Amino acid sequence: MIQTRKIGFYGGSFDPIHWGHLGAAIEFGYQLGLDKVLLSPTGDPPHKTPRATPEQRFEMVRRAALEYPLLEATRLELDFPGPHYTAQTLERLHDLEPESQIFLLTGRDAAMSLETWFEPETILRLATLVVADRENSGGVSLAVTEPKSVFAPYTLQALPSGTLELHWLGVNASSTIVRARIAQGAPIEYLVPKSVNQFITKHQLYRN
Ligand code: ATP
Ligand code: MG
Repeated sequence: MIQTRKIGFYGGSFDPIHWGHLGAAIEFGYQLGLDKVLLSPTGDPPHKTPRATPEQRFEMVRRAALEYPLLEATRLELDFPGPHYTAQTLERLHDLEPESQIFLLTGRDAAMSLETWFEPETILRLATLVVADRENSGGVSLAVTEPKSVFAPYTLQALPSGTLELHWLGVNASSTIVRARIAQGAPIEYLVPKSVNQFITKHQLYRN
């Protein structure tokens, strides 16, 4: 019998990618027995304007993913004209991989605003939603810079039925914290992989 491939799709602005993303992706892969986790930087996210360019964010994701056979940076959103909606991206992924079972991987903050996403019913038809805790990823320095905008509004009372919840140790990191620390001249070595840190330094990203 042919085994259906199980693919995780993990989208984000990745501005920049950090150990919270990578840790969750690796843990999702392990707990769900995924064959692949696609890390997809958004080209033109409808909800926010990233600091680094799409190509810079993709390059950081590509460098980080290189270290892990499970992880793969994908241009699924970058190479198509925006704005990019997850429902449409999942349709493209489904067309590319009709035999694969797709898991949409998100942090809890992203999932709780699913109702506000474009065509949530399409998303749930095409993919199993999987949600990772990130309760602790707020943290003190987050409150200093962007107290309100970091967490999406919690519009859902409960997660959609069929959603899988991923319980894990968690990594207390966010891109907002990484950017704020760079602007403060504080170290970020323990928040992002070395290859990402080197890229940030070389291109002088997030300094102000
Ligand atoms: P920003 O602070 O700029 O919003 P972010 O750290 O939230 O960045 P995003 O690119 O917005 O990162 O998030 C992409 C996806 O990764 C979302 O589903 C988000 O919930 C999830 N995510 C981000 N950080 C973590 C973390 N520390 N643990 C688990 N999931 C996370
Ligand atoms: Mg976010």
